[in-house]
Amino acid sequence: MNEGEKKVVDKMIAIYCRANHKPALELCEECIVLKNYAMKRLENCPFGEDKPTCGSCPVHCYKSDMRLKIKEVMRFAGPRMLLRHPIDAVRHFYKEYRRSRLASVNEKSFRK
Ligand SMILES: [Zn+2]
Repeated sequence: MNEGEKKVVDKMIAIYCRANHKPALELCEECIVLKNYAMKRLENCPFGEDKPTCGSCPVHCYKSDMRLKIKEVMRFAGPRMLLRHPIDAVRHFYKEYRRSRLASVNEKSFRK
């Protein structure tokens, strides 16, 4: 489930860790914990394959400290993803875009 999202999150954490923590192995311990946590959240996500990207998800299932970390990772690695993995990144941001458009349409119909 959510294999595409997992791949994106996985790559973003790797980019972030390599640039900021200079790990001896692929990831430092802190980022391994973060990654395992993020993968678990994706697996348990109630939206399944149709889930919005976590940035626009209404559920916010992350604990607050993990949420801060993943936000930092995404802010740092998001633009770099576009350069290194443009196809995955575009798919990810397209989903977000489509989702936020849907959300704004829903909002309008609620206001009536
Ligand atoms: Zn790290």
